Amino acid sequence: MILPTDNGSPADGVILAHDLTRTYRIGNTPVHALRQVNLTVRRGEMISIMGASGSGKSTLLNLLGCLDSPTSGSLCLAGRETRGLSRDEQARIRNQLIGIVFQGFNLLTRTSAVENVELPLLYRRNGRAADSRRAATDMLRRVGLGERLAHDSTELSGGEQQRVAIARAMISQPEILLADEPTGNLDSKTSIEVMGLFQELNEQGITILIVTHEDEIAQYTNRIIELRDGQIVSDRPVEEEAIR
Ligand code: ADP
Ligand code: MG
Repeated sequence: MILPTDNGSPADGVILAHDLTRTYRIGNTPVHALRQVNLTVRRGEMISIMGASGSGKSTLLNLLGCLDSPTSGSLCLAGRETRGLSRDEQARIRNQLIGIVFQGFNLLTRTSAVENVELPLLYRRNGRAADSRRAATDMLRRVGLGERLAHDSTELSGGEQQRVAIARAMISQPEILLADEPTGNLDSKTSIEVMGLFQELNEQGITILIVTHEDEIAQYTNRIIELRDGQIVSDRPVEEEAIR
């Protein structure tokens, strides 16, 4: 089902959110984290989601990544309506379409870079282990870590750990990469390097959404969406995108 949207043509929308709403409950008190958000993301866009702490950025990203279900509204990802799907079916869509990167890297310790990256493939248990190892090695080379394959994650710098996390998110060849404050734990030089990597992946056709509260980081994307109190209050193109 294709729903009418606020902007763009539905036909090329890789993400179509319609009246997306998420209300948490603390006891009997509702928390309106996201209120009837309408959003069209076209294939190949690179978008920043900005807004103050508590404005609903992570809630939106978690819904788009099928990590959470909306209280109401609908979400169509690459032509597939997610409303009414079971947890398992949502997980399958997530595994097929979406890679996710977090602020804290979330790598396994006492586990090498290449093992961290191949893990999603091993969990699927189809294909051979040797192929998984080769794919993980190739992906780490792509993110500039060909010399760090055997390093334990604790032996890597913050920027290197985030690159491993990005390689792990990319190993399933997702169409969409979601990142929640991916540079939040990095110094500004390393942040810009990581944004350069996101730009490279975007140029290869991946649609990318990045939550950030830093203007400088947002300048590396093409479009800035700003949330306030769970609603989109601004949605604008970046006039002169920064190039790393
Ligand atoms: P942001 O990422 O922009 O800081 P969030 O999406 O995390 O904002 O949170 C939006 C609102 O929802 C905030 O008021 C927050 O306190 C609330 N919230 C987030 N997660 C939960 C939860 N699991 N239970 C209850 N309230 C939550
Ligand atoms: Mg957040």
